[in-house]
Amino acid sequence: MRDCEHGIMSTDIIPRAERSIMKIKQVKNLKLKSRLLTAFLIITALPIFLITVSVGTIMRLQSNSIQETYDVKSDTIKLLSNPLQILSRLTRGVYNEIVITAARSPEKFEDEEYIDYLNHELKDKFSYLVLRKGEEYIYSGNEENLDNIKGYFPQYGEYTTDMEGGIYIDIKNPFLLKQLDFHFTDGAEGSIFVITAVDTLVPQIKSSAIQMVCSLFFVVILTAGVLIIWIYQSILRPLNTLHAATNAMKEGNLDYSIEGDPEDEIGQLCVDFEEMRIRLKELIEVRLKYEEDTKELISNISHDLKTPITAIKGYAEGIMDGVADTAEKRSKYIKTIYTKANDMSALVDELSFYSKIDFNTMPYTFTSINLHDYFSDCIEELTLDLEVKNIEIRYTNETDAGLKVSADAEQLKRVINNIIGNSVKYIGNKKGLIKIEILDIGEYVKVSIEDNGQGISSRDLPFIFDRFYRADTSRNSTKGGTGLGLAIAKKIIQDHTGSIWAESEEGKGTTIYFTLKKCKEDTEHE
Ligand code: ADP
Repeated sequence: MRDCEHGIMSTDIIPRAERSIMKIKQVKNLKLKSRLLTAFLIITALPIFLITVSVGTIMRLQSNSIQETYDVKSDTIKLLSNPLQILSRLTRGVYNEIVITAARSPEKFEDEEYIDYLNHELKDKFSYLVLRKGEEYIYSGNEENLDNIKGYFPQYGEYTTDMEGGIYIDIKNPFLLKQLDFHFTDGAEGSIFVITAVDTLVPQIKSSAIQMVCSLFFVVILTAGVLIIWIYQSILRPLNTLHAATNAMKEGNLDYSIEGDPEDEIGQLCVDFEEMRIRLKELIEVRLKYEEDTKELISNISHDLKTPITAIKGYAEGIMDGVADTAEKRSKYIKTIYTKANDMSALVDELSFYSKIDFNTMPYTFTSINLHDYFSDCIEELTLDLEVKNIEIRYTNETDAGLKVSADAEQLKRVINNIIGNSVKYIGNKKGLIKIEILDIGEYVKVSIEDNGQGISSRDLPFIFDRFYRADTSRNSTKGGTGLGLAIAKKIIQDHTGSIWAESEEGKGTTIYFTLKKCKEDTEHE
């Protein structure tokens, strides 16, 4: 029952704001986090992956090329991580042959043809042969260089098995040295040296390094590019859209609409911005309408007051100037002045009442009203008045006897009086009939008030609930209408959460309908 007794009208502004805040809260936490995580992964994982792939590919290619160039077979990693191994392996085949020859037939080392053959074999592998007998160098594959390097050669017996892979001599032109000691057939101590120039490998390693640096640059640029595109797509683009929308709004364009994905923060910001734009536009439209209405209201009031004032002035002058020269005329003039003053007073009363309800400053007292009792009393009151005016009233109430509606009894009476007042006004002098019917339509009851008056043209019908609207100004001026009666009725019914509308046929009559909300307990009984 308490539900019926308060009449606070809720607007949808607060729930809408709350909904927006809740929406923001729901999506706030996740997206930026996941985006940062993705950025972190892109920055770290992508370069690692790409560097691994490109370095791996380069190493494989280099290894293949080394294998092809130097005829060395080994793992890529091993080859590139230990270039000395490459140098050592280069000459392994020839060196093994030398070892076998030294063991089995050392006399071959005195055969120049054989030595040339060995040296020739080594040439392809960037190496050459040096042969020492005692202290004397009896053969060198590279005569010019011998003097520069021979000082670094180990003495007979100094080269041990630990040095099997060769020893690296780090001078200006570094080289790898492999030595084998043996005895010539005459018993003399002999050493055979296999010299490999290290410089030969440098171009290969250099090109590997350049390729790796290039691939590193490429990977970094690619990662940065991917990140920049991604950031642009997901952050900068919506921000740019927002920026454009803000500028448009700054310049007064409130029709610039934007879209956003409510699933991420910036998208949500766009959605909120869009809501704000719509709200602002609505507020400005309301404001403009209000200003327009105020201008119209002032012009209507001045016009409506001016007409009776002019009449009052005219009749008063008529009396003062002696135009009303008979007692009968004077009495007629005074009556007219009285009627016009009454009209003015009614207009001022209606205006002040209308401004009160229009500004929502009218306090309603909502109570639970028994529909049958309320309308029976109303009809009883009206019947007396209407009988005098030759108008019959027919009342039917199809609702349950105990049905109650939530309404302000006094204001509801004002609605009924305004509608019936119009019926009376527009029935004219003919035999009038007003039918009042009440129907139960579920959550609401529908009240219809039908008359057999002059009706309203279809041109005027949509506007009769607008304030100051009078279907035919000249005609109504004789009937003393203010054009506020139905506007007031509409506002009161709306404040009761009901609706009001009209149907009419010119020459046949008009029906005004309005709905009233049932009390909650009555609705529950349905
Ligand atoms: P008014 O004070 O001029 O009657 P209302 O707001 O009550 O102002 O009505 C607006 C206009 O609607 C009236 O001027 C009249 O032209 C038309 N109207 C309202 N009710 C009726 C009716 N029952 N029959 C014919 N015309 C009507």
